[in-house]
Amino acid sequence: MIKENVSQIIKEIPINVEIEAAVKNRTPEEILEAIEAGIRIIGENYVQETKSIIKLVNRDEVRIHFIGHLQRNKVNKAVEVFDMIETVDSFKLASWIDGAAKDINKIMPVLIEINIARERQKFGVIPEDTEAVIRDISILKNIRIMGLMTMGPLVSDIEDLRPYFRNTKKLFIKIKDLNLNNVFMQYLSMGMSSSYKIAIEEGANIVRIGSYIFGARQKGNKID
Ligand SMILES: *Cc1c(COP(=O)(O)O)cnc(C)c1O
Repeated sequence: MIKENVSQIIKEIPINVEIEAAVKNRTPEEILEAIEAGIRIIGENYVQETKSIIKLVNRDEVRIHFIGHLQRNKVNKAVEVFDMIETVDSFKLASWIDGAAKDINKIMPVLIEINIARERQKFGVIPEDTEAVIRDISILKNIRIMGLMTMGPLVSDIEDLRPYFRNTKKLFIKIKDLNLNNVFMQYLSMGMSSSYKIAIEEGANIVRIGSYIFGARQKGNKID
């Protein structure tokens, strides 16, 4: 099942787009099956959960990204285990990451999370603040900004996400064209199971897919 799902998605999408398997609440067996089917990026929401997975995967082959909300007391561990942190949404969080990375001599690749619909309850930098926040973070020596990530708002018709993805891409290009030092606008992470096709059409080159690979999450499980 998982194998077929992954093969299907790989067949459908352009080769420049990478599939990130969103693995929250999945078993190691399920995750390994996805890797065997060709998944090369794992997206983790929980720092804690990652411990059981890192032992299983060949890190030369599979990269592990953090896609949850990072709390201060988890920053050291996160910097140690992840290949990328996709959810940096403030200078403060970036400076904690920078400090932890300095301690272990690591340059930590990050994406800046954008709250593209300016939703009050959501994490992420609002569009009008993005350039200033990125300029500030770009000064930090042990962080490397690699692009942008967005979740997009909840919509009843998935087509309604298109303008938000399009605006995130516009913002991505705007920042890229600034050619800032230490800012490498290489990745645009947007789109999930229901929206990845639209996200790719609007310029995503990482799509984060959970239920479409692994099946619907069980009721009662946390979703973020
Ligand atoms: C769970 C999750 C996804 C994938 O969601 P699905 O709808 O299961 O594809 C993508 N991004 C983030 C940040 C998530 O937490």
